[in-house]
Formats: sequence, structure tokens, C-alpha cells
Amino acid sequence: MSDCIFCKIAAGDIPSTTLFEDEKVKVIFDISPATLGHALVIPKAHAANVFEIEDELLAHAHIVAKKVATALKDATGCKGINILQNNGEVAGQSVFHLHIHVIPRYDDDDAHIKWTPGTQDTAGLEKILAKVKETL
Ligand code: 5GP
Ligand code: ZN
Repeated sequence: MSDCIFCKIAAGDIPSTTLFEDEKVKVIFDISPATLGHALVIPKAHAANVFEIEDELLAHAHIVAKKVATALKDATGCKGINILQNNGEVAGQSVFHLHIHVIPRYDDDDAHIKWTPGTQDTAGLEKILAKVKETL
């Protein structure tokens, strides 16, 4: 995709600090990090989101995310790590080339990855359960 920023970064057309690279993915630091060490695992082949990406590539990207998380944990001494991936604007996605966030967490850091716990909507769940089961 010629107008995709992460395609350009993955291809090396835009220079970036690279933590790791193989034939399928590139790992870089986020330009506007949530915390120190916030990294992005970017598959080289363009796929907008989880619905478009090929299973094997997604699996590989997640294995790399685990390796990066382990290395970042050692390097930063962080207390924990969030590994997350957004799909769609409403879910917080702003770059529409799938990527996995690896976010080291520190006491009192400024990353806010929490929601207000709700209560189960039994009727709502019942409605979707049959459909989901059918799809799966
Ligand atoms: P999303 O909101 O799509 O899940 O995450 C996009 C992330 O990409 C954001 O955290 C944003 O800071 C980061 N980002 C956007 N443009 C660039 C860029 O040109 N270089 C780097 N390194 N990160 C970027
Ligand atoms: Zn792309």
C-alpha cells in the first residue's frame, strides 16, 4: 500500500530505530510512547486489521511480541507488560496497518489501559451466543 505509513516503515523507505527484524516483521519504538520502551511489532505484508491478516503471519507476529516483551522486561526492569492490538477506529486504532503494541508498565506510569467493570447482559449474551457458536 503506497500511502500506508507502516508499509513504508516496514520496507525501510522511512528510517526507524529497529529493535528486531526478520523476513516477516519489523519491530520499532512507538513515536508517541505510552511508557518508556513502548514498541510496535509490524508485519511487513499489509493487512489493515485482525480480520484481514493471514493466520500464520499473525501467529508469527505474536511470537515476536513475546520475545520483544521478554527482552524489554530485562532491559527496562519494568514490573509488567501489556501486549495489545486495536482493530477499528472505535477500538482505538489510528494506523490501519495491523500492529501489536508491547507496552512496558511501571509503578505510577501514565498508561491507562482499564475500563469500568460492567455487569453481564444475560439477554444480550443469549442473543449472540448461538450466532457466535455457529460461526466458530
Ligand atoms: P493504534 O492507535 O493504531 O493502535 O496505534 C498506532 C500507534 O502508532 C500509535 O501509538 C502511534 O503513536 C504510532 N505511530 C504513528 N505513526 C508513527 C510513526 O510514523 N512512527 C512510529 N514509530 N510510530 C508511529
Ligand atoms: Zn500498510
